[in-house]
Amino acid sequence: MTRDDALALDAADPLRELRAQFELPPGVIYLDGNSLGPLPKATAARVQQVVRQEWGEGLIRSWNSAGWMTLPQRLGDKIARLVGVGAGELVVADSTSVNLFKVLSAALSIVQEAATPRRVILSERSNFPTDLYIAEALARERGFELVLADDYELPARLDHRVAVLMLTHVNYRTGRMHDMAALTHAAHEAGALALWDLAHSAGAVPVDLRAAKADFAIGCGYKYLNGGPGAPAFVWVHPDHADRFWQPLAGWMGHASPFEFAPGYRPAAGISRYLCSTPAVLSLAALECGVDTVLAVEPLGGMAALRAKSLALTRLFAQRVQATCPGLALASPADDAQRGSQVCFAHPECGYPVIQALIARGVIGDFRSPDILRFGFTPLYLRFVDAWDAAEHLRAVMHTGEWRRPEFNRRQAVT
Ligand SMILES: *Cc1c(COP(=O)(O)O)cnc(C)c1O
Repeated sequence: MTRDDALALDAADPLRELRAQFELPPGVIYLDGNSLGPLPKATAARVQQVVRQEWGEGLIRSWNSAGWMTLPQRLGDKIARLVGVGAGELVVADSTSVNLFKVLSAALSIVQEAATPRRVILSERSNFPTDLYIAEALARERGFELVLADDYELPARLDHRVAVLMLTHVNYRTGRMHDMAALTHAAHEAGALALWDLAHSAGAVPVDLRAAKADFAIGCGYKYLNGGPGAPAFVWVHPDHADRFWQPLAGWMGHASPFEFAPGYRPAAGISRYLCSTPAVLSLAALECGVDTVLAVEPLGGMAALRAKSLALTRLFAQRVQATCPGLALASPADDAQRGSQVCFAHPECGYPVIQALIARGVIGDFRSPDILRFGFTPLYLRFVDAWDAAEHLRAVMHTGEWRRPEFNRRQAVT
């Protein structure tokens, strides 16, 4: 394969127009949309309109007239289309960590009602730390035990003690993707509930929560959904469970009738009870623009087309880097079926400075401690030639020893 072959793939790419939806700085190859999605062109004008007109002129009337109050549900219906659930089943609110707290707590309540007590939350040792911290805290508070296993051990660890299997669909560090349907089935066979974090899958890979028969899901707004730094997150509860329990953050927005100002809590029906507080209108407006950039794929072949391009991009990049940088070990699955939308390499010593040297060249990836060089591929705006050029930059940084320069070896707070 040559650079011209990459350019030919771009010319034939059915998704090539989608790149024009984004403000991408010239000279940058952005391989970090899995950590912070780029700015959609529509966002600045939309946020400006919400600020100047809806807030500035509409003032408090806009809660009704501009539909502010129903933003969590309206955006939820849009994200629902990306994760295989129905309208009215998913809401946007709070953060991923906070939503995990809500659904994990509800899951523990469901299990506590069962005749045989189950006391274990089972998760993966390499799960994203905030998920493990929230589970650890809840386990302590509710008298459960958090048990961690490696991914290959999970099916064997699903025994009669497990209350909830809590996993992140695509691993943040390696990009390894679980078989959601198979593990959910195994959890149910063992009598446990299945809770999925979609932080690295919503908008990145096809997700079908209903087909997988998942019980709970949460996900992130600022990664592949391009909602902006700190964007609100989403939460889904299977309709069979949604009305069974109060979630623990029983704020007024989850009340059946918040403007009755009644002293007692009555949960709203369905997923709306998973709301807690007043919607973050400015952030939600930005998130909607981001979600729309992903929904733009629907008339062009949908998530299946996005997935096909994502796999082709990650395959190209992984193959080029393996061919030119023998010192880097592929840390993501080579098998398409097990790979999310990112490619990672491990190097025992130079991961951090190599990423810094690449960033200085305009190729933005990130480093994940202790040894991972991580490159996210978002097919909405990345071209095959970008994957090719990024691999060439990585080759140059490795072969010239450019990464040894002192300025690339000083650690900053955010890696
Ligand atoms: C990014 C990410 C989060 C982020 O949590 P916040 O509450 O938004 O800080 C949580 N879980 C996983 C698996 C993630 O990848």
